[in-house]
Amino acid sequence: MSAPFVYCDYNAGAMLRPAARDALMEALQSPRNPSSIHAAGRRARALLEDAREAVARAVEAQAANVVFTSGATEAAHLALEAARPTARALILSAIEHEALFAHGPRVFDDVRIAPVNADGVIDLAALDAVLARTPAPALVALMLANNETGAIQPVAEAAALARQHGALLLVDAAQALGRVRVSLPDLDATYVIVSSHKVGGPPGAGALILAPGAPFAITRAGGGQEQGRRPGTENVPAIAGFGAACAYATAELDAESARLAALRDAFEAALPNEAVVFARNASRLCNTSLFALPGVRAETALIRLDLDGVCVSSGAACSSGKVRASRVLAAMGVEKAQAEGALRVSFGWASDEADARAAAGAVARLGRSALKGAA
Ligand code: PLP
Repeated sequence: MSAPFVYCDYNAGAMLRPAARDALMEALQSPRNPSSIHAAGRRARALLEDAREAVARAVEAQAANVVFTSGATEAAHLALEAARPTARALILSAIEHEALFAHGPRVFDDVRIAPVNADGVIDLAALDAVLARTPAPALVALMLANNETGAIQPVAEAAALARQHGALLLVDAAQALGRVRVSLPDLDATYVIVSSHKVGGPPGAGALILAPGAPFAITRAGGGQEQGRRPGTENVPAIAGFGAACAYATAELDAESARLAALRDAFEAALPNEAVVFARNASRLCNTSLFALPGVRAETALIRLDLDGVCVSSGAACSSGKVRASRVLAAMGVEKAQAEGALRVSFGWASDEADARAAAGAVARLGRSALKGAA
């Protein structure tokens, strides 16, 4: 009998939504260069612009301000580069994704870190203090929801502080989109970044969305696509799938987030008593649980769960196969030994109660065998 397949790793990559697959497959049927003048090119252009509208609607922005990229990493890099001539320094929250942490220092000489509290939520007083001693205007990067803990950040409050200090604000909404409302105007963001494969679209597409009048230095040369902001032929099939996924993810937001929260809560209620759930006191994404079992290392746990047919992650899974201590948990003050056991379960549109039960059962077995080993 083959092992069941219980997919609980939506924060690494969501299952492809059927509507996204249909849009992707349809776009693959015909030539796909939207810059061509002929009928086939115009058809590709129509698919591209429909998707642009859908992505814009998903973040309550204007379609003309959506710049398609290959994913959130490229969108993050593009935002850093576009803001650089205006911003004199970069302030990163301590829990930003590697896309910003690794590329930030390549673009900015002056990079500062704004700390988070023990629940992985930015410390607004500390942010205010960092802003006060940083040359203005700065670019502040604060994600809307953390990929590891799911902790939702007080972005609108951070934006108010940023504005007081004349700063620009870059909001990474890659994990938030489709799980909480994302409104570029309400967040008062200068830049928002999103990713197709996190929301149930195909990999290979993402977007940088600009507030009206956001500074944008053109840094890349090429064929002038995306109003010259991101040259290179657009990946129309992936973008068409991305647009379809966005339309579903946002139309079903309220009902779906309540359903996912119930699955996540049922999963956590079934965890062994000794399990530690990280960011438990924070407002968290409906679908995410990051936890550790005493005495269980993440590498071992991942293999054991995989043998049980349950796919989960160990904290950040951005570079698959590599299990390393989480920078996010370190920033929260979690001890290294405990951080090394962190496992992330994340549910999504195709998850159901049976998945939550199967995942909890597999984790409970893991906990029991660790206790036996320790005895
Ligand atoms: N930002 C966050 C919060 C993420 O979780 C990820 C992916 O894990 C990224 C950015 C990068 O996204 P992409 O894989 O589309 O480059």
